[in-house]
Amino acid sequence: MVLPSPRFRPSRRAMLRGGAALAVATTTVTASAADAVPGASRRAATPRPAGGGVSPADFPDVVWAPADASNFTVATRPHDHPVEFVVIHVAQETFQDTIGIFQNPSSDVSAHYVVASADGRTAQCVHDADIGWHAGNWDYNTRSIGIEHEGWVDEPAWFTDVLYERSAVLTAHLCESHGIPKTRAHIIGHNEVPGATHTDPGPLWDWERYLDLVNSA
Ligand SMILES: [Zn+2]
Repeated sequence: MVLPSPRFRPSRRAMLRGGAALAVATTTVTASAADAVPGASRRAATPRPAGGGVSPADFPDVVWAPADASNFTVATRPHDHPVEFVVIHVAQETFQDTIGIFQNPSSDVSAHYVVASADGRTAQCVHDADIGWHAGNWDYNTRSIGIEHEGWVDEPAWFTDVLYERSAVLTAHLCESHGIPKTRAHIIGHNEVPGATHTDPGPLWDWERYLDLVNSA
C-alpha cells in the first residue's frame, strides 16, 4: 500500500486501516512514505525523460502514467540489478488517487503498475528498468517490480475477477520478460518483504487463485 500524501486528503478508511504507522491524522502532517525508505536518498541525478507521449509502457495493454521523477530511481535493470521478484500490493486507495500520489513530487513513493478494480485497466508509472519505491526495503526495491491494486485489504469486493485476471496476465508477462519463476517464492506480498511494516495485500487476497491464473495466463 501507499501512504497518503500531504497534498491529498487521507481517506478515512486508509487512516483507520493502514498496516503502517498511519499517524498521518491530519492533512497537514508530512507523510512518512514508508514504502520508499530508504530509497529517497538514492535518486539518480538524471532521470530518464518522460512525457511528451514518447515514453511507451513496457506492456502492451497499459496506459503510461509516469510517476514524478523524484519518486523513483533511474536504473538500467537488469544490467545493474537483477529483477527477481514481483511484489503484490493493495493500495488502500483508489486507482486514480494511487496514480496521483505517485505523480505528487512530495510523496516519495511509486510502484511500476497500478491495476483498477472495476475493469482491470492498468497504468504503468515506472519503467521496469527503473527502481520503484514500493517495498519499504531498498534491497527488495532494487530487485523487484511492484504492482498496486486498487482497493482496501479488508474489503474483498475490490478484488474482482477482472482485477485478478488482468493482474495475473501482467505478472505472467513480467515473469516471462525478466526470467522470474512463477512461484510464491518470487511472487510475494508486500507483507512478505523482510522488515515489512505493511500488511498488504492482506489475508483476503486469494494467492492460490492468483498463482493459478499467473500460471495459466
Ligand atoms: Zn504495499
